[in-house]
Amino acid sequence: MDKTNSEQKKKIVMNYVYAILIGVLVIACAITIALVSTNSNSRADIGDEGLDVSTTTYVVPMKNATVVKDYSGSELQYNDTLKQWEIHKAIDFKASDVLDVYAVADGTVSNVYTNYLEGTVIEISHANGVVSIYKSMASDVNVKVGDEVSAGQVIGQVSDGMAQELNTGAHLHFEMTVDGVKVDPNDYLALGDK
Ligand SMILES: [Zn+2]
Repeated sequence: MDKTNSEQKKKIVMNYVYAILIGVLVIACAITIALVSTNSNSRADIGDEGLDVSTTTYVVPMKNATVVKDYSGSELQYNDTLKQWEIHKAIDFKASDVLDVYAVADGTVSNVYTNYLEGTVIEISHANGVVSIYKSMASDVNVKVGDEVSAGQVIGQVSDGMAQELNTGAHLHFEMTVDGVKVDPNDYLALGDK
């Protein structure tokens, strides 16, 4: 009798242990799920405008243009003007009939300047530390520092004013940076329909 009693007690205790284990597992799962969802929330909230780099659609900065020199992070490309091999952390769009240049996304014009080597340059700051940079622009640009621009807005026209790429003719030398580091614009622009 005593033996059966103690075995029954053992069974009851084991049932409690199982119940507690399952409870702990459920709580652990709940905490994991809560942490994961908090993480993804904070990632989406990085930008003031609530835009996520990965989901923002960037407009191609020119229409009917041809990519005459693509981005290269380490591979050397020949610069026909300077007669030297160099890396080219930019995309060169050669104009055809349309000289207009479009802002690739909503943002604020953060810099406009002109120098001999780069021609006139416009920089636009977007959400999440993304900056788009337009070089070899004609000097009579449509925007000034502080202007709010929207995606697709015409900010100016291309020219052959960038002395270090003079032989390319009228073109846009387009760069993008994230937190100040040059990135490959191909990762952001849908260039299938340029
Ligand atoms: Zn270039």
